[in-house]
Amino acid sequence: MRLAPSLHRLGEAMVSCYLLEEAGEVTIIDAGVPAYYADLTAELAAMGRTIEDVRALVLTHGHDDHIGFAERLRVERDVPVSIHELDAALARGQAENPSAGMGERKLRSLLHYLMWLTRHGGMRTTALTEVSTFDPGTTLDVPGALHVIHTPGHTHGSVSFHAPGHDALFVGDALATDAVITERRGPQVCPFAADPDEALASLARIEGLEAHWLLPGHGEPWTDGVATAVGAAREVGIGHLARPKR
Ligand SMILES: [Zn+2]
Ligand SMILES: [Zn+2]
Repeated sequence: MRLAPSLHRLGEAMVSCYLLEEAGEVTIIDAGVPAYYADLTAELAAMGRTIEDVRALVLTHGHDDHIGFAERLRVERDVPVSIHELDAALARGQAENPSAGMGERKLRSLLHYLMWLTRHGGMRTTALTEVSTFDPGTTLDVPGALHVIHTPGHTHGSVSFHAPGHDALFVGDALATDAVITERRGPQVCPFAADPDEALASLARIEGLEAHWLLPGHGEPWTDGVATAVGAAREVGIGHLARPKR
C-alpha cells in the first residue's frame, strides 16, 4: 500500500511492516509475518524498485509478528538485519517472550487474530540465526537515515525509528492504533507488553517528534500528529493490560 512515493506499507493493518526508499535504495522496517515475503517483490515493484535495492532490515523489537520473513531475507538476499541489543536474544529465539500476558481480550477478536496469524505463517516464524545490534540515540547508516529512539516497555529492547526526511515515525508496538485482541481502536499502549507502566512512560520519548506518518505495527497509519496520538493513548491508559508479577 502506497503511503507516499518513497513510503509503502507491506501487509495489512492486522500486522504491518514498511518499506522506505531513498536514492533508489530501500530499508525495510520490521518483517511482519512469513507470508508477507511473497508480497515483497510486488510492493517493491510498486515503488519502482526490486529486491536487489533492499539494503537493510531494521527491527522495532523481537516479537514473532515482527521478525516474520527476516531470516529468509537475510539468508536468501544477504540483507543485514539489526535490532536493539536487549531484544537480540528474543529475535534469535534464545529468550522467552517477556510479555506479562494478554490482559483484556475479546474472544472473537483473539480467535480472529490467531486464525489470521496461522494463515500467514505467524505461528511458525523462523528465528534469526544472525542479527546485529544498534545503539539508541544514533542515526543508522541505512536508506532513510533512521534515528533510533529507545521506547522500552512493550519489550525491553523496543525502539522507534524516526525518519525526519520522510516525515515518518515507525513505532513498532510502542503504540498501536488497533489492539487486535480487543475491539479497541485508536492510539493505545499495545497489549502483550512486558511492562505497561514503562511502555506508557516511553511515550514521552516520542511525543515531541514531528511526523506526518505515525506508523504502528498493528492498526492503520495515524496522521493527526504524534502528540495527539500519545495524548489519546494516555487517555486510554493501561488499566486493561496484564501487569508483570513483581
Ligand atoms: Zn510486539
Ligand atoms: Zn506486534
